[in-house]
Amino acid sequence: MNESETGTDADSAVYRTLLESTRAIPWKIDWNTMRFAYIGPQIEQLLGWPPSSWVSVDDWAERMHPEDREWVVNYCVSQSQSGTDHEADYRALTKNGDYVWIRDVVHVIRKGGGEVEALVGFMFDISERKKTEEKLISLQKELEELSFKDGLTGVPNRRMFDSVLELEWEKAGRNRQPLSVVLVDIDYFKEYNDCYGHLQGDDCLRRVGQALASAATRSRDFLARFGGEEFVLILPETDAEAAMTVAERCRSVIFKEQIPHVKSSVSQLLTISLGVGTITPSKTDAPLEFIRQVDQNLYRAKQEGRNRIAMAG
Ligand code: GH3
Ligand code: MG
Ligand code: MG
Repeated sequence: MNESETGTDADSAVYRTLLESTRAIPWKIDWNTMRFAYIGPQIEQLLGWPPSSWVSVDDWAERMHPEDREWVVNYCVSQSQSGTDHEADYRALTKNGDYVWIRDVVHVIRKGGGEVEALVGFMFDISERKKTEEKLISLQKELEELSFKDGLTGVPNRRMFDSVLELEWEKAGRNRQPLSVVLVDIDYFKEYNDCYGHLQGDDCLRRVGQALASAATRSRDFLARFGGEEFVLILPETDAEAAMTVAERCRSVIFKEQIPHVKSSVSQLLTISLGVGTITPSKTDAPLEFIRQVDQNLYRAKQEGRNRIAMAG
């Protein structure tokens, strides 16, 4: 460079003004002493600690969230030692005890011989960005849950049923274990809606969903809303006899709910009909065909008078 002495001073003043008027907070650490040679006055506005309180790297490390401190310090020290520019996100402690998410971007300055001379960098306030990120993650999780959950009853939906059936089908085939499915259909539910109104119909579906969920007791038992007023249970490693027991329990938990249904032709209380099927899937069997057979059993339960269970054979 070829500037005169006054030109350099003037430039420094301009640079300083520029540095101290940006939202990013500039700083410099002398490598030999590990002390701050400079930190922008903006730091006080962001964290509450005045520039004069930033003396050594210990002040920097101490004002860091304990969960972030170890990895950030280790990472920054090792990167600096190897002379590599780097950046780290961490939570910085404010004077009143809160934390602010910071992104520290670090540039390593070396002497002619290659040894590290100083670190310079900028701290950026990224708390808004982090908040947005966290919100996005929680929304994504909610969306994931919602897309597998039936909005009305809160039990898993048909889509989830399809996935679980596929998995359990494959598992049952591989382990040569029986797999049972119970299809549940509320009796005369159209009349229930007509008599009590659609909103109470919705309430009734919620109660039935919760009650049926309590009838499936083993950890891999799975209940879903199959559609409209139909629910379905997948019972892995369950033979026909045990499936029949679960189906009976379903009928009994619904009976215990004692939901009045004066327009039902089979009872004064709400009842269900059930179709049960059991299979140890072979390579030639298909889940859809099996579900169709279980549905036929349900149809038979309806034909034979409702409020009952039907299984094949
Ligand atoms: P069956 O004894 O033969 O099963 O007769 P059903 O009246 O229960 O069967 P149908 O298939 O004729 O009618 C089912 C009714 O379920 C009709 C429909 O309005 C009602 N339904 C389906 N989904 C919902 C829902 O989400 N909320 C409410 N309230 N009703 C529903
Ligand atoms: Mg139906
Ligand atoms: Mg029905």
